[in-house]
Amino acid sequence: MPLSRRSLLVGAAALVLPGRARAAADADVAVVGAGAAGLAAAAAIARSGHSVVVLEARPRIGGRAFTDASLGPERAFDAGGQYIHWAERNPWKPIALADGVRRADDESGPWPMLFIDGAPASEADRSRRRLGFARLTGLLDQHPAGDRSIRDAAGGADPALLAAAAGLTRLSLGEEPERVSEQDYDQLWSGDDIWVDGYGALVERHYAGLAVRTHCPVRTIDCSGPGVVLDTPAGTLRTAVAIVTVPLGVLAAQAIRFVPGLPADLAEAIDGLGMGAYTKIALALSPTSLPDLRDAVIVRSPRDGRPGLTAYLEMRPFGRPLAVLHAGGDAARALCEAGEAASVAAATDEVASIFGAKARGAVRGGRLAGWWTDPYSRGSYSLARPGHAAAREVLRRPVADRLFVAGEAAAGGGAMTIGGATLDGERAAAAALAALRA
Ligand SMILES: Cc1cc2nc3c(=O)[nH]c(=O)nc-3n(C[C@H](O)[C@H](O)[C@H](O)COP(=O)(O)OP(=O)(O)OC[C@H]3O[C@@H](n4cnc5c(N)ncnc54)[C@H](O)[C@@H]3O)c2cc1C
Repeated sequence: MPLSRRSLLVGAAALVLPGRARAAADADVAVVGAGAAGLAAAAAIARSGHSVVVLEARPRIGGRAFTDASLGPERAFDAGGQYIHWAERNPWKPIALADGVRRADDESGPWPMLFIDGAPASEADRSRRRLGFARLTGLLDQHPAGDRSIRDAAGGADPALLAAAAGLTRLSLGEEPERVSEQDYDQLWSGDDIWVDGYGALVERHYAGLAVRTHCPVRTIDCSGPGVVLDTPAGTLRTAVAIVTVPLGVLAAQAIRFVPGLPADLAEAIDGLGMGAYTKIALALSPTSLPDLRDAVIVRSPRDGRPGLTAYLEMRPFGRPLAVLHAGGDAARALCEAGEAASVAAATDEVASIFGAKARGAVRGGRLAGWWTDPYSRGSYSLARPGHAAAREVLRRPVADRLFVAGEAAAGGGAMTIGGATLDGERAAAAALAALRA
């Protein structure tokens, strides 16, 4: 149920400040970051009757759950998450059903067309590819005792296996196969996917009643005295405990200074994780000059998993006059670093290479969802590096009983998802409330 303003006011009115930590507090709990994890944590704290202040660096809430309507409302697209993964147990499935947002389940999607090295794949290419994926799945299902990269799991030099490993990690994890832990991949939850027409907007609607201080990047979090002192450009906030939900990339870049420094085990866990570069480029298409092919999904990959652009092109998602290019790994990093104009031009070249030069004239501008170069995400979502599959668990350890890290990176099997971030925000809120009661 969406949080009402009333429940928040009740929360604020119930502010009680017993104990050493809370003597000089502005609120019981500070939540840093208003993505899915921070919003879920803040809502749970408010429901408990404790006071909570949410500090968000961006001018909007939702974080990596963001429906970008800057190309016009009819061309709105999810710049971040769009699928409700493992829907059977995802808290967003019942919310989406109650909301009535348009959705498509994973069986209703169109058949992908496959392009390899710029040319339509032959039937032989297709069957090699299917076989490569089947054999890779078999190898990953063996669950060896030690950890290794997905590249190493694919073994020596079988081109179909290498192509499958690169396709899997670039397009579902945003990263190159040699930088992904097999054990971490293995522990991710799986299940049905529901494609939502506006997942970010759904998250925003659901938490519309929650008060958030936007434009408020936290610069320092000081736990050296009693309670927590948070420094922001808008002033200082004192709370009893804090829940930090900024992306792993922001923690790794040390964009927030912790006083005293983070404990060694937590710092090591942050080092053992990395951020992928799953990237979307949305092209606005003229509704009157669309290429004949509609509602298609096109996969494009270099042969044999070589370096290069592995991309996935959604034509007219939900019937909208859009083409959305999805890419991951180092080629996607390069697109983000090249900037919006260059990446929109590159995506237009892709569309033209598939539909012919005439399609170029159908493109009316575009948007880069460049999470890799965004200072408030510094990547798309977290991955454990080979040998560091236990790092997510370590992130969840409280610091000095008053600092709680939460978010997709700490979400165990729910990592890399909005649902996982939501559940992890609720987990951190429960831990913070227990600390307040102690
Ligand atoms: C391209 C892409 C596709 C994806 N696809 C899917 C999908 O299909 N399904 C799915 O479930 N998930 C998907 N995800 C992942 C999903 O979006 C994330 O896992 C989830 O949104 C993370 O939520 P979070 O609360 O942990 O972090 P965030 O949403 O990143 O929230 C953290 C917040 O902290 C803020 N912040 C950063 N620095 C500071 C600071 N110094 N002070 C204050 N605030 C700060 C940020 O602005 C942000 O709002 C996708 C992500 C990307 C990028």
